[in-house]
Parts: sequence; C-alpha cells; structure tokens
Amino acid sequence: MPTKPEFTQASNWQQELACSFTRVQEFLEHVHLSRLYDQSLEHAGSRFSFRVTRHFASLIKKGDATDPLLLQVLPSAQELQTHADFSLDPLQDQQAHQGAGILQKYHGRALLISTSACAINCRYCFRRHFPYTSHQAARDKWSAAINTLQASPDITEIILSGGDPLSLSNARLDDLLTLLQTIPQLARLRIHTRLPVVLPNRIDGELLRVLGAVKLPLAMVIHVNHPNEMSVELHQSLAALRAINITLLNQAVLLKGVNDKLEHQVELCEKLYSSGVLPYYLHLLDKVEGSRHFEVSRQQARELHHAMAARLPGYLLPRLVAEIPGSSSKLPV
Ligand SMILES: *Cc1c(COP(=O)(O)O)cnc(C)c1O
Ligand code: SF4
Repeated sequence: MPTKPEFTQASNWQQELACSFTRVQEFLEHVHLSRLYDQSLEHAGSRFSFRVTRHFASLIKKGDATDPLLLQVLPSAQELQTHADFSLDPLQDQQAHQGAGILQKYHGRALLISTSACAINCRYCFRRHFPYTSHQAARDKWSAAINTLQASPDITEIILSGGDPLSLSNARLDDLLTLLQTIPQLARLRIHTRLPVVLPNRIDGELLRVLGAVKLPLAMVIHVNHPNEMSVELHQSLAALRAINITLLNQAVLLKGVNDKLEHQVELCEKLYSSGVLPYYLHLLDKVEGSRHFEVSRQQARELHHAMAARLPGYLLPRLVAEIPGSSSKLPV
C-alpha cells in the first residue's frame, strides 16, 4: 500500500488536502483530547463523515474540549437525536432544484452545485444530507447546466456553490468559468467557499491566474465563524485575492458555544476588515437534522446583533438573517 505523503513534504494543496484527518481517533490524539473518544462519535461520523484539514486542526487549542473550532468539526452523540422541527432538507432545496445542478430561489441569481466535495465537514452543515449524486452539474462537463442557463435570460448572476467549488482543480474551474462567460446575460459571478479558510494554500498562483482572467465582476464569499480562524496564512491568501480585484465578503453561521459571544463577533468583524473582507451575513442555523445542539434562539440572536450594532461601524455589521423556504430572499431576523 502506498504511504501517504507527509504533511511537511506536501508540495501543493491537493497533497495537503489528501493529508487531512478523516479518522476521529487520530484527530483527537493530535489535539490532545483522546479522552473524548467513544463509539458514539464513530456513529455520528458514519452518518456524515468526519473530515478536517491539518491547517484548521493547527488552529485548535490543544487539550481544550470547548475550543470553538473543535466544536465545529468534531462529531457528537447529540447529532444522533431527532427533533420534530429539524429535518433532512429544511430549506426545501430539492424543490428549488431545476435540474443540471442549478438551484434558483431568488430573483436574478442562482446557485450552481459544482461539486459535492468539501475540505472540511462542518457538523452544522445544512447540506449534510443533500443528495449530491442526483444534483450535480459536473457530470457531463457542465453542458446541461450551461444549456439551462443559456435558456434562462432572467438569471444574471451565477453563484458557484457545492460542496465547495474550490475543491475543483484549477483546470476544471477554468473550464467552468470560461463556459459561464459565454452566457450573454451574465453580469456577475460569485464563489461561495470555505477553502481559503481551512486550506489557505488553495489560493495558489494558478488559481489566481484563472480567477484574474475572469472578465465579469467576481465576488468571493468566504465562511469564517470565529476570529481564531483568521490565521496569518488566510490573511496572505486574502491579500492575493484582493490584489486581483475580487470583492471579498464573509458569511457566518451563529452557533451555540462557538460564536454566540459579543466579544467574538466584534473581534471577527474587525479582523475580517483588516484582511479586506466585509461581513455580509450572520445566518441563524438552518434546522437540519443532527444540528439542534448548535441552535441559538431568535431572541438571543437579536440581542447579540443589537449589541454588535452598538459596537461596530455600520459597514462592519453583518445582516442577521434566516432562510425561510418560499421567501423571496434571506429574511432579516
Ligand atoms: C443564499 C442563496 C443565494 C444568495 O442570496 P444572496 O442574498 O444574493 O446572497 C442565492 N440562491 C440561493 C438558492 C440561496 O440559497
Ligand atoms: S464547508 Fe460549507 S458546505 Fe462544506 S461542510 Fe462546511 S458548511 Fe457545509
């Protein structure tokens, strides 16, 4: 059996990704928390697999069972509990699916599900039960998706989503972006990704070339929940993206025990800005089965947001929103 390359010898992001932790036990040893290990974690991990990059793991405080980054990735026995108002498809994404991996809910813009792969599996993820195999645009080299978009003159903005679109190779992204730019009505492109945060080396020279060649205005919405995720490496990658004129925004999910304290939210918004990123959305948790232990009540969320407004300039205050199926936008809380 070939041995995995050592992390320190990884010469590019794909090798680094291949060295991610996928075994709970090994990961817990690494963060000095073997005492937390038991069978129920394996059980939870078999419902939605465990995965975390070495970079993200390096930002976790060793030995701290309450670390806010740890809690985002470590499977928990609580995921196995079911609750009446937590479902498999809380956003009714499957109804909004138009075929070919295109999901439209809002006027003028649509998601393109470009891959099912993520570099990290966030335990609260609203797509944790999403049937990717039947909702993917990549299968036929994007042709069905492009044809659908050609025939949808009202869609003027495409949002690459997933999974994580930056887990596609540079060559495949290049193909996709080139094809998208043949659609005459497209005015903007957007990429929703957590890769720069969990694997900053993903922003390599070739990716910068591919993104820099895009003629349409391009925005990237990253996903940082806690200020401890704002590493030096992320800062450098964001600077490189800014240098090619990409608009950088952040969305976070409000998570109990992770980022529900005022100080953490304020610090996050300030750190984002010093890396050239504007806070965009702070989402209430989507009620997906297995995530209830992360829920912050609407009332608490509102109070937190009020307190943030009293501390931050208006342009650093993310909009507090919830996604309600059937509505014409994300709704302010
Ligand atoms: C969240 C989302 C968008 C993006 O909404 P914005 O308010 O434009 O950021 C677009 N389409 C779908 C299906 C979404 O879930
Ligand atoms: S990176 Fe995004 S899509 Fe992937 S598991 Fe995390 S929240 Fe879900």
